[in-house]
Amino acid sequence: MSKDFIPAAKPIIGDAERDAVDAVLRSGMLAQGAEVAEFEREFSDVLLDGRPVIAVNSGTAGLHLGLLAAGVGPGDEVIVPSFTFAATANAVALTGATPVFADIELAHYCLDPDHVASLVTERTAGIMPVHLYGHPANMPALRALAKRQGLAVFEDAAQAHGARLDGQPVGTFGSFGVFSLYPTKNMTSGEGGMVSTADVDVERQLRLLRNQGMRRQYENEVVGFNARMTDLHAAIGRVQLTRLAEWTRQRQANARYFDAALDGVGIPAVADGAEHVYHQYTITVPEDRDGFVDALRDEHQIGAGVYYPTPNHELPSFARTADLPNTARAAATVLSLPVHPALDDEDRERIVTAVNTLAKAGA
Ligand SMILES: *Cc1c(COP(=O)(O)O)cnc(C)c1O
Repeated sequence: MSKDFIPAAKPIIGDAERDAVDAVLRSGMLAQGAEVAEFEREFSDVLLDGRPVIAVNSGTAGLHLGLLAAGVGPGDEVIVPSFTFAATANAVALTGATPVFADIELAHYCLDPDHVASLVTERTAGIMPVHLYGHPANMPALRALAKRQGLAVFEDAAQAHGARLDGQPVGTFGSFGVFSLYPTKNMTSGEGGMVSTADVDVERQLRLLRNQGMRRQYENEVVGFNARMTDLHAAIGRVQLTRLAEWTRQRQANARYFDAALDGVGIPAVADGAEHVYHQYTITVPEDRDGFVDALRDEHQIGAGVYYPTPNHELPSFARTADLPNTARAAATVLSLPVHPALDDEDRERIVTAVNTLAKAGA
């Protein structure tokens, strides 16, 4: 019996990625160029029904620049979940606006539209749902609320490449949507981010902001950043994009296997009309979550992740008081099992046996 450690996440890099990088290295043109332009077109065609896409050097940069391009700044409030990676609220805070932390629905760990509604003030500029773990947020309810109140919607789709709601891809519901290409995400470019937008003004601002405010060289129109993606990274991303659909099917097949076989733990729910792409397969255990994670690692050589043990509003970087009971409950009870496409049949069996054994033992 294999006792190899099963990691929580594992980027799959093959000869095609190595060859693509080598070709760029040989070309001598390493920075943003033709590869980035092709990657933007292909990403748009494959994932976003042709909606324009702007490549940047990280998902965080995409969120930050997207908010700036949409005109968010000091004096504004943007409602975000507290139960997410810190980049979501960081991006808001870096514009000078104030992130306002809302609670989640426990079924899918995404923003609770009713709680969001209770937080709207005259300063609220927008709502930034996160499609957490690869499950789409409740966009119909959030969009209806935004429309009623005259707010913008910005999507953090960093974990949700290819997720859909009623057939519509995430990243096409708001004024912009952001995907991360960090190595643990469903596809990678090393580091990178993709911003989709159908708003021509936002698109134009994004292209300026990522490149020192220049469209033409040395004709800087606004004060901007260097947030460009390199052709080296785009070359990796282009290969990964061709494999994403197959990897997503494998993630979904792994999830179906766990759904059917796990016993004594809470399994992830999928909303009506939602296509979940299982960036994470997140379960809840009755008690002692941290002990459960330790036992999976130490007794069964299985890497489980806790995303996220500390809600954003409680991080030292924000240190706010807020009463978010579902967020508190999720932060204390969730853990994510390996669900990535590098798992083989034996790995899946080992994961199920380990979880069921620990659940039964009341770990
Ligand atoms: C990964 C992630 C980000 C940030 O993306 P980077 O590419 O790492 O900058 C933002 N939001 C969420 C929810 C993420 O998971």
